Amino acid sequence: MSAIPDSKMAEASRRILSAKAEQFTESVIREMTRLAMKHGAVNLSQGFPDFAAPLEIKEAARQAIADDINQYAITWGAKALRDAIVEKFERTQGIRIDPEREITICCGSTEAMMSAMMAIINPGDEIVVFEPFYENYGPDAILSGATPRFVRMWPPAAGGADGSDWTYDEKELAAAFGPRTKAIIVNTPNNPTGKVFKRKELEFIRDLCVRWDAFCITDEIYEHILYDGSEHISMARIEGMRERTIVINGMSKTYSVTGWRVGWAIAPPEPTSAIRKVHDFLTVGAAAPLQQAGAIALASPQSYYDKLAASYGEKRERLLKILTSAGFTVFKPRGAYYIMTDIARFGFPDDVSFSKFLVEKVGVAVVPGSSFYSNVRDGASQVRFTFCKKESTLAAAEGRLAHLAEQIASN
Ligand code: PLP
Repeated sequence: MSAIPDSKMAEASRRILSAKAEQFTESVIREMTRLAMKHGAVNLSQGFPDFAAPLEIKEAARQAIADDINQYAITWGAKALRDAIVEKFERTQGIRIDPEREITICCGSTEAMMSAMMAIINPGDEIVVFEPFYENYGPDAILSGATPRFVRMWPPAAGGADGSDWTYDEKELAAAFGPRTKAIIVNTPNNPTGKVFKRKELEFIRDLCVRWDAFCITDEIYEHILYDGSEHISMARIEGMRERTIVINGMSKTYSVTGWRVGWAIAPPEPTSAIRKVHDFLTVGAAAPLQQAGAIALASPQSYYDKLAASYGEKRERLLKILTSAGFTVFKPRGAYYIMTDIARFGFPDDVSFSKFLVEKVGVAVVPGSSFYSNVRDGASQVRFTFCKKESTLAAAEGRLAHLAEQIASN
């Protein structure tokens, strides 16, 4: 049988595929990981640790399987994990939530975010999103039917070396809100900038949410990865926000288990019942034995979180030095495990051509800055590195970046 011609395939696809799915591309971040593997490059693109997960947590997962926790958990999450989340949220943020009516365990915070958006968005609704933004929020908006209103964040002067952080214009933020605003997404500590929102900033956002009767969906997945004495304040803790905040979180980053796919949404009872319905029909539930192990992980002592932050603090310093020596303009992060950089001085036409050169010719994979902006031109002189990697990986990147200037000159 002869192959179907490409033109016929394309014509048929246009008729039967979703217009929503046509509006976004494959994840650039995950594509960079594939390119890193193809070119044997050091992968400083996607934010997953390349070191071992904590032994006790792995043991707990093994034990859960041996104990035959192998069937569906309750759709909105195993009781042991929900109870552990309640205990930890109270211990770290001082807020007591109801495990029976205010938590939904999902397949990663990715699904928690998607379920939350689908649970609250109606046609015509707008959501406010700071940019640069974690790339998933774009497709999340399209798939749930929300229209995003982007508000720009600007890099700190002097790269943040003086303790300053990324900023936004309050007037621009206020102007992005209106009668159609259903929610604002706040990601703190922030990917890709490393910004940690301060109480005053959260209060300003609170005033806008109250004025326009909007939700705040807050992605707090990097809550324990903080530097220079930065404090993570959950939006749910800001006076007047408990009843209109949906907290998204998960195990991926805090316990170095991005492949386990366990995350959750904490929200007041009404949005929670809508989130639970969406979640049930999307995925039924996250892996039951891994939820059980999650309950053990969340009970880790404070020393675990202190060590995690200290270890990432060292890696941050290490990569800042490597990148500065190689000629990048760096923006020092206050939290999370990424470094945004400016590449203007290397003279490439844009971030994509630079990233391609870096992965193919230098052997280091990064994420092009444009994948974090609604308008690709806005990220054309930025690329993002991650440092959630073991020392040998960072050392390999150091070796490869050491001669970057000469390699660019002879390109
Ligand atoms: N939210 C942010 C801000 C992220 O950076 C990431 C992963 O990089 C995720 C969510 C995905 O988290 P999960 O593995 O829980 O789906």
